[in-house]
Amino acid sequence: VANNHFIYGDQKIPYLVCPVPRHQHDISIHVNPDGSVQVDVPLDAKQAEINKAVLKRARWIMNNVEKARKLREHVLPRDYVSGESHFYLGRRYPLKVISNGYKGHAVKLLRGQLRILTPDPGKENVKRLLKRWYREHAREYFARQLSALVEDIPSLHEMPKWRLQVMRKEWGSCSPNGTLTLNPHLVKAPALCVQYVLIHELCHLEEHNHSKRFYRLLTARMPEWKSVKARLDGMAEMLLNE
Ligand SMILES: [Zn+2]
Repeated sequence: VANNHFIYGDQKIPYLVCPVPRHQHDISIHVNPDGSVQVDVPLDAKQAEINKAVLKRARWIMNNVEKARKLREHVLPRDYVSGESHFYLGRRYPLKVISNGYKGHAVKLLRGQLRILTPDPGKENVKRLLKRWYREHAREYFARQLSALVEDIPSLHEMPKWRLQVMRKEWGSCSPNGTLTLNPHLVKAPALCVQYVLIHELCHLEEHNHSKRFYRLLTARMPEWKSVKARLDGMAEMLLNE
């Protein structure tokens, strides 16, 4: 992973170059939600080739950087009202708060909307209901993904102990006794990013430090992890914002 930049008009645009080992023969350019530019390249890509690909799409990149900047409403304090969008597994869903005629509370993902049914449409209440919904979905989704991964990794013989905990800056951690802690906000990220975090923490069961051996394990289990991590980093501010 290397930092680079190009000049467009009077602007200097930085971009991150991520070598991706498999399934990739072309250079692909992404603009992350925070406006950062990520260039995924085959392992053998030459710098001149990368520069050329970036300059060729300079206008497209600039347009998307502008768009991302405008969408940064996501890092402002949230209001929890209808129309505001919230992430789930990498997609944005508009919130619809429906308060007429409901006695109980429910949250449903229905027809592309996150619907909150509640007699109390107040901000604190909607926030609390949504938080609970994310937690329930995180618990279920992470459990399913973890058990699938554990089955795929022969050196792991059983499901590790794990728990949910909201963290300000981390997606996950692994304690010395092998308990994984996962941030429920992670369920807002794309599935591949969730997978990266789970694999990362599972590798810590075998190697606690970020040693060479750790990165060998990680790379063997997810060769493209650098690109996936850069994508997750590019969304972090947004996904961690409540
Ligand atoms: Zn780690």
